[in-house]
Amino acid sequence: MLDNAQNRPDLPPEIARRRTFAIISHPDAGKTTLTEKFLLYGGAIQMAGQVRAKGEARRTRSDFMQMEKDRGISVSASAMSFDFNSFRFNLVDTPGHSDFSEDTYRTLTAVDAAVMVIDGAKGVESQTRKLFEVCRLRDLPILTFCNKMDRESRDTFEIIDEIQENLAIDVTPASWPIGVGRDFLGCYDLINDRLELMDRADRNVVAESVSIQGLDDPKLDELIPDHLLEQLREEVEMARELLPKLDPQAVLEGHMTPIWFGSAINSFGVRELMDGIANYGPQPQIQNAEPRQIAPEEKKVSGFVFKVQANMDAKHRDRVAFVRMASGHFKRGMKLTHVRSKKPMAISNPVMFLASDRELAEEAWAGDIIGIPNHGQLRIGDTLTEGEALRVTGIPSFAPELLQTCRAGDPMKAKHLEKALMQFAEEGAAKVFKPMMGSGFIVGVVGALQFEVLASRIELEYGLPVRFEQSQFTSARWVTGAKADVDKFTDTNKQHISYDNDGDVVYMTRLQWDIDRVERDHPELTLSATKEMQ
Ligand code: GDP
Repeated sequence: MLDNAQNRPDLPPEIARRRTFAIISHPDAGKTTLTEKFLLYGGAIQMAGQVRAKGEARRTRSDFMQMEKDRGISVSASAMSFDFNSFRFNLVDTPGHSDFSEDTYRTLTAVDAAVMVIDGAKGVESQTRKLFEVCRLRDLPILTFCNKMDRESRDTFEIIDEIQENLAIDVTPASWPIGVGRDFLGCYDLINDRLELMDRADRNVVAESVSIQGLDDPKLDELIPDHLLEQLREEVEMARELLPKLDPQAVLEGHMTPIWFGSAINSFGVRELMDGIANYGPQPQIQNAEPRQIAPEEKKVSGFVFKVQANMDAKHRDRVAFVRMASGHFKRGMKLTHVRSKKPMAISNPVMFLASDRELAEEAWAGDIIGIPNHGQLRIGDTLTEGEALRVTGIPSFAPELLQTCRAGDPMKAKHLEKALMQFAEEGAAKVFKPMMGSGFIVGVVGALQFEVLASRIELEYGLPVRFEQSQFTSARWVTGAKADVDKFTDTNKQHISYDNDGDVVYMTRLQWDIDRVERDHPELTLSATKEMQ
């Protein structure tokens, strides 16, 4: 998508002002807090803290949600829109838990940039690194926020070094912290030559900003104690000498990340980060598709589904397909073509997630995320256009790493179970395989926790108690090749063959050795661990 990332002066202003991004972080680094502050600054809500409160009130008190809460993880991703200065921010939430990495991966296909939040005391943690690698695969631009500077944290150079070395990306400081922990006063804004002072008394107050003329400005002596000022001058001088300068193009290409230091809970450093997203973050970018790429400024509307969420509203058994608009100016009520089925769809009640609640979307531009309620027609990877047969590419499905058989507690309910499982498969919550031989289903997931989530959702949403049991298989590979070759292979390997929910052939085994052997003995076939959603 972002091969030649660039911000273009010729984009229509409505598109050019959009910034669509996700936050990546390790649990506890402060993603939720930062999100709340974004919304606070974005004016979307009156008081920070309402994201959680409102969200909870809106949701049904199901066991599933309870589980989500108990475990302190956010399973369901959502998208929020808010304005900041003259910009429109679309923040797509990523599930933080590593068990949901496939979902996260796909979410990252719908954004143009990522904000990486790290904890100043902990540096780059495992989940951050994994998510970063996913961003790297797509050269997604990354802006970094080093949080919790109000606590004891590592030395600033050490943090920057760790990011550079661990993630192999150039880091350029956009701000420089003054003091740490109890002594943390604020930051020197290296981009605007400003001093930002933190207000510890009121966490929701925008930091005081003092314009200064460089580091020799006498005003600094009044505001910063001598020893901290001396340290600041030394460090900034060193940083300017040793660290790369901010290069906006390198940021857009994903080779350089600017870093801001702050404290989300104290609302400190957040506005500077938002300015950074506005000024250095990418506009909506060109989308890879077949048979041609889609440019955001194209007059005709197009978009693709990157996530499906079921039962967001307990009263209606609806699903919401989250669609990233790839081009054009969408208006409510438009008829779009669902490219996979070639059928027209009137999009009469699309929703936008305006921070505090779902609202009807009257219009959307390239870069926006809208939710389309539907009864199952829309699947992950689907493309919507004004008629042209385009298919957005690059939305993968991964071979599950854990497989279990699934049976209904009541054998008479097998059909029911099939329906439930298919729904979850289409939502992308699990892979469902029907073995060629024998009965039952094999369910595949990326992380073990998903089995628990599935079991409670099937019981809750379909009233079906189910049992998951160890499967005899541990790996699954999609088999592709000429139809005759695939048929011949399935015929002689029936015990190992299943069909996924699209009807595609999957080879299952418990031994890597088997996979190697098939690859060796059948050069005419391809076994693969990923498949493009379509
Ligand atoms: P998430 O798991 O990444 O969403 O993290 P949260 O936003 O829930 O934050 C994790 C914990 O860190 C919570 O207890 C927050 O109150 C706390 N926290 C967040 N930001 C800051 C900060 O700037 N300073 C301090 N001291 N604590 C913070």
